[in-house]
Amino acid sequence: MGFFDKIRESLARTKQQFVGRFDEVVKRADAPESRSRPVDVETIEALEEALISADVGIAAADRIVATVRDRRGRGDSLRDLVKEEIRRILHDAERPAPDGHRPHVVMIVGVNGTGKTTTVGKLARLMKEEGKTPIICAADTFRAAAVEQLEIWAHRAGVDLIRTHGGSDPAAVVFDAIAAGKARQRDVVLVDTAGRLHTRVNLMTELDKIRRIAAREVEGAPHEVLLVLDATVGQNGLVQAREFMNAAGVNGIILTKLDGTAKGGIAIAIAHDLKLPIRYVGVGEAIDDLIPFSPDEYVDALFEEKW
Ligand code: GDP
Repeated sequence: MGFFDKIRESLARTKQQFVGRFDEVVKRADAPESRSRPVDVETIEALEEALISADVGIAAADRIVATVRDRRGRGDSLRDLVKEEIRRILHDAERPAPDGHRPHVVMIVGVNGTGKTTTVGKLARLMKEEGKTPIICAADTFRAAAVEQLEIWAHRAGVDLIRTHGGSDPAAVVFDAIAAGKARQRDVVLVDTAGRLHTRVNLMTELDKIRRIAAREVEGAPHEVLLVLDATVGQNGLVQAREFMNAAGVNGIILTKLDGTAKGGIAIAIAHDLKLPIRYVGVGEAIDDLIPFSPDEYVDALFEEKW
């Protein structure tokens, strides 16, 4: 299956919930006799409701509705206006992935249970398929089980894993992994970090320490700090995200479990509210179930008329 088929399939539940309502709203407004008329209040309200039911969030739904109301009257269909505005919200949050010195250091952060460990394995595999030579660093030294899980994923992905044998200082493992990356001429170091310590302050202090070690060893590192967010958590994920953004320098999002929710509109809320690019989405539990996020594919899959 190609990436488009995968995103389409992962959005099946969201579509079931959203598309029926949306189609009903736009059908009336897009009928030939009403196209040049302003959109009535009832339609606007129904549109807003349909968007919020898909977890697009109040702020993004407001922006979409306001734009649609303003632009209507030039004969454009309501369907196309909504699609275009969603596309614009997603594109506005896009940034080119930072690129610079080697090895490229990517820190994966997020709370436990979001799919962090699984995602590191999938990402290593995806990068390998793109011709890169990643190495995985097990810096979540607090969860022995997590390190073992990660080892299994590294094996599946066919990449080396650097872990500690003894001491439990995550920054020291990161130091070792970067040294190994340099010695073995690997171009990416993927760092799995802890998702829970005794307190949030401890966690953020630890992430900061890892950042400082990485910065000392490779210029500009960590080049990417990707926050793993679980799509099934919905709007609460945005609260989580803000905490990590403030403390950990997050510059991109990986949205997991898109296949497990009818609230796939959360991608739009993330782009709108956090202004951070979504880099990848998790679409299942298998190793090849992580795909690069494309705003256009997402919008096309969500609004595809025949499916
Ligand atoms: P961690 O605690 O954040 O490291 O989370 P794990 O990587 O152990 O994942 C937690 C659970 O989420 C596991 O059962 C994974 O199989 C599942 N999971 C992770 N990513 C996805 C995804 O994209 N889709 C689905 N359906 N499940 C996922």
